Amino acid sequence: MSKQKSAESDLMQKVVSLSKRRGFVFQSSEIYGGLKSAYDYGPLGVELKRNLMNEWWRSMVHEREDVVGLDASIVMHPKVWQASGHLAGFSDPLVDCLISKERFRADKAPRPVAGDSLPITCADKGQAKKYQEAIGKRFEIELRREGTRLMGMRVIDDATVGFFEDGGEEPVRTFPYRGYVSPAFGSPFLSEERQFNLMFRTQLGAVDVMGDIAAFVAENKEMDQKELRAGIEQKVKDSAVYLRPETAQAMFVQFLNCQQTMSMKVPFGIAQMGKSFRNEITTEHFIFRSCEFEQMEMEFFVEPGTQADWLEYWRDRRLEWWRSLSNNPDKFTYRAHDEDELAHYADACYDIEYDYPWGFDELEGVASRTDYDLRKHAEHSGAKLTYFDPQKEDPETGKNGWRYTPYVIEPAAGATRGVLVYLLDAYHEETVTDAKGNEATRVVLKLHPRLAPIKVAVLPLIKKDGMPELARELVSRFFKAGINARYDEQHAIGKRYRRHDEAGTPYCITIDGQTGEDGTVTIRDRDTMEQDRIPMADALAVVQERLVNS
Ligand code: ATP
Repeated sequence: MSKQKSAESDLMQKVVSLSKRRGFVFQSSEIYGGLKSAYDYGPLGVELKRNLMNEWWRSMVHEREDVVGLDASIVMHPKVWQASGHLAGFSDPLVDCLISKERFRADKAPRPVAGDSLPITCADKGQAKKYQEAIGKRFEIELRREGTRLMGMRVIDDATVGFFEDGGEEPVRTFPYRGYVSPAFGSPFLSEERQFNLMFRTQLGAVDVMGDIAAFVAENKEMDQKELRAGIEQKVKDSAVYLRPETAQAMFVQFLNCQQTMSMKVPFGIAQMGKSFRNEITTEHFIFRSCEFEQMEMEFFVEPGTQADWLEYWRDRRLEWWRSLSNNPDKFTYRAHDEDELAHYADACYDIEYDYPWGFDELEGVASRTDYDLRKHAEHSGAKLTYFDPQKEDPETGKNGWRYTPYVIEPAAGATRGVLVYLLDAYHEETVTDAKGNEATRVVLKLHPRLAPIKVAVLPLIKKDGMPELARELVSRFFKAGINARYDEQHAIGKRYRRHDEAGTPYCITIDGQTGEDGTVTIRDRDTMEQDRIPMADALAVVQERLVNS
């Protein structure tokens, strides 16, 4: 491992360990051995996550006249997921291309027959080279590259494909054939068919679905596996509901209610944040990808034809927002999706990426989703999900007044992923020399003061001489002003400073012997460690001012 790489994975380990040590993030159900890839946000973590989400809400909803909020239920009508396309995969088997990772429905795939050649068609020459190497490594054959196509595979019969050298009549190697190839690349290198869905399924109501299934199986002993499965699936489906895999769909479903009750005019947005659930196959990198996580999403409804400009607008705003709360703005960037990466409903998309210890990876997606979602929900529900603009000319009739289905720009961010990003961004070590001249490592979490779990710690130098009383009085002044302060009298003052450095507390106020004499306190800055002596009567105003200007 290179020096840089090992320092980076070191950073991840340090953040994971600090998260536990200081109460940011714990393994879920730890005393029972932990639940894989589920996490609990501890006393400081819950504050950090809430502060982050509140900052998002402030910038996306409170500070904008053109965005309103929503807090929809996590369990929605199952038809929502049918309309959105999320239900596919429960009843239709899905297959993965082993090379491109493309996932598709087996029943919709192209079915070349005996004698057909199977060119693997790539998006560009770079991809062709990459896939040629991947196939070579995995299957020990060297397909011929012809521009963007990889040649040499041919269907031999219903169950076999072969690799043929140029002009060769006999296959050099043969492989099992499933009867179809992947739709985008034409690849015959495929996984098993699997019933697969990212959504967590549960049952609503007091239905005894197990009883129904048992009765169905008992009544249909003569059925084969496939028929039985389809029958059971139907029984389950009748009462099945799903934990939402994204917060987005509720904003489409409540489009009309939100627009009408708040008299919103296009362009306008509906924002929501909250829990989402995905039965991820691979969970990784601590809280980067987990099965239960929080999202902050906004659907911004725009006039058809204006989506490209709005997409750039939101891409820039969102990038700016992430950067504004960070110490290292250069670690955030955006990347346009390639044509072959785009979701089927999107006409363009950007990922806002962060430079994680393993390299640049997604933090937020900003997608131009066309009018796909509103149209699909209109089709499935029968509701008229359109907007009428009396001022605009209908481009088709040339008459005044235009009714259309709005296009949508969606900035969709991960809140829990954001917590990881800001923990990585804030983690800082430096060497300091103590009063006795000894060198030590100071760990400080340089969280933006607005994100910091505790804004100010109030510390009586010793636990007597009236200092605790004065400290508690000051803490209550902060509480009354809505500032999260913490009274802390445990351990020596130096240790308390270090503890609050690790917690990311931007300011520590110390009540000492002088406070009783002249009414002054010291205020210590987390990052510079500088201490100023100020009147205790001004402490609230000083902290308020520093927080506002941070
Ligand atoms: P990825 O490619 O990382 O799986 P995605 O493209 O599927 O993400 P979206 O559906 O666009 O993600 O969701 C928007 C945001 O929600 C992502 O950018 C990410 O921050 C967050 N997110 C998605 N899935 C997870 C997860 N399993 N755990 C934590 N955060 C997630």
